[in-house]
Amino acid sequence: MNFLIRLIFIAILVFLGWRFWTQQQVGSSVEQLTHQVLNPKSPYCQSPLGWRLGRLDPAFNLTEAQAIQLISTAADMWNQASGQQLLHHDPAHGFVIDFKFDARQQQLLKQRLLQRNLARYDDAIQPGLQNLPEKFAELDAKIAEFNQQKALLQQQISQFQPNAHNAEAQRRQLEQQQQSLVREADWLEQQRQQLMRDQDYLNETIRQRNELVQTAEQPTAAASFEVGLMTIKQLQRQMTIFAFSSETDLIATIAHEFGHAFGIAHTEEPDSIMFHQLNAQQQQLTAADIQAWQSTCQAQ
Ligand SMILES: [Zn+2]
Repeated sequence: MNFLIRLIFIAILVFLGWRFWTQQQVGSSVEQLTHQVLNPKSPYCQSPLGWRLGRLDPAFNLTEAQAIQLISTAADMWNQASGQQLLHHDPAHGFVIDFKFDARQQQLLKQRLLQRNLARYDDAIQPGLQNLPEKFAELDAKIAEFNQQKALLQQQISQFQPNAHNAEAQRRQLEQQQQSLVREADWLEQQRQQLMRDQDYLNETIRQRNELVQTAEQPTAAASFEVGLMTIKQLQRQMTIFAFSSETDLIATIAHEFGHAFGIAHTEEPDSIMFHQLNAQQQQLTAADIQAWQSTCQAQ
């Protein structure tokens, strides 16, 4: 019963850990500046729109060629989805895209590392949580069976009659049964000790995992920070990238900011690139993005 209580506690801790992570999605949130400036059918739609790489902070660990390649991928998403050359690389006159390294990137990297470590713990914990209760139940059943056999043997021993004509044969048979039960008891005890070790190991792993979560920086500061920003002042565009946790996220962020470069506002669909918060569902421009572009930039 003590084990069951522990197990419930463990399950709660694991659940809490999971909740902690699902609440930690880092997003590029609303660029207020852009939205105050832009209206539908705004004058920001002229294309093709040239871009160029500006300052690339070396702390991002990206070469210029890599950065240009990733930006080009994001630009091609718009070109392909619209069937037009909306964006092109213009190293001489394009608007500037800066990669500015600050605490946000460090926080993202820390979070990613923590997430990976937690995933490792979870991989180690999950099988134990699933299998141990079953193994304890199996052992309990075997012990119950053993106790029945033991009781039966005790009964036979108490009924043993030393003066019966086949007493010697009976005595030998009872002795054999007894030895067999002793071996069975040894084996059951080994099994029990092994399971206790497994349980201790599992509890220790869970304790370490929870300690890792507790000592990690609280996610509040990072929960909603912007990872990209598009500003347009007197038709002068500038894009700034502050942080990214993967190339996929970076491409989605740049594609999102490119959308704002044309004056496109946020969409309601979480899987669309123009959704206000960066998330894992954003893989490519969706019908909602194209609809937003058409309603913003195409004469009706
Ligand atoms: Zn936005």
